Amino acid sequence: MAVNHNPVCRICRREGRKLFLKGDRCVGAKCTFEKKGYGPGMHGRNRRGKISQYGIQLREKQKIRESYGLLERQFHRFFTEAQRQKGVTGENLMAMLESRLDSVIYRIGFANSRRQARQLVRHRHFLVNDRVVDVPSYVLRPNDRIRVCERSKKLAVVHEAMQKTRDAKGMPNLQLDKAKMEGVFLSVPNRSEIPFEANEQLVVELYSR
Ligand code: SF4
Repeated sequence: MAVNHNPVCRICRREGRKLFLKGDRCVGAKCTFEKKGYGPGMHGRNRRGKISQYGIQLREKQKIRESYGLLERQFHRFFTEAQRQKGVTGENLMAMLESRLDSVIYRIGFANSRRQARQLVRHRHFLVNDRVVDVPSYVLRPNDRIRVCERSKKLAVVHEAMQKTRDAKGMPNLQLDKAKMEGVFLSVPNRSEIPFEANEQLVVELYSR
C-alpha cells in the first residue's frame, strides 16, 4: 500500500499555512510552522514573487490533498468519481473525502488526526456495521455504525483523543456515543456542514486544464 513518507511539518511550511496534520502538537508551542513560518529548503526564506493562476490552483489542490492525507493518484480517483456524480463536482469531492472511514474516525473523535486515524484503521481497531474494516479509504454510507473493537477499547490513544473531543467535532452528520465508544455516520455531509476552509472550485479548474 502506497504511503506518503514526506516529513509532515514540511507540508505545512510548503503550503504556507497550518494544516493540523499532527493532532495535539499542532495546537501547542511545539508546532514547527509557528517556529519556522517560512518555506522549506535552503531558499525557503527568500521565496517571493507573484504566483500564477495555475500556481494558485495547484496550491489549493495540494492543501486539500495533503490535509486528507491522499497521494496524487488516490486524490485524482476521488475527483473522477466526484465528476461522475450528479451535482457540483467540487462539493461532491469534499463530501466524498469526508465520507472516508479515516476522516470520519478523526471527525468523530476516536483519533487526534487523520494520520493517526489511518494507522488505527490499518491496525484493525474499528468495526463498521459489526465487521472489521482495515481500509482507511473505505467510503461510508448513510447510517453506517462505527465501533471501536472490544479488544481495543482500552487503547490509550483512543481514550486521549476522546477526552479532548467535542461532540463529533461539530459535524451534524455524525453522532457519537462516548460511553459505548461508537458512532453513526448519519448522512453524507453538505459542503456547508464541512468545517474545512478551501476553494474546491480551484481544483476543478486545475483538472479541467
Ligand atoms: Fe503543521 Fe501540525 Fe506540524 Fe504545525 S505541528 S507544522 S500544524 S503538522
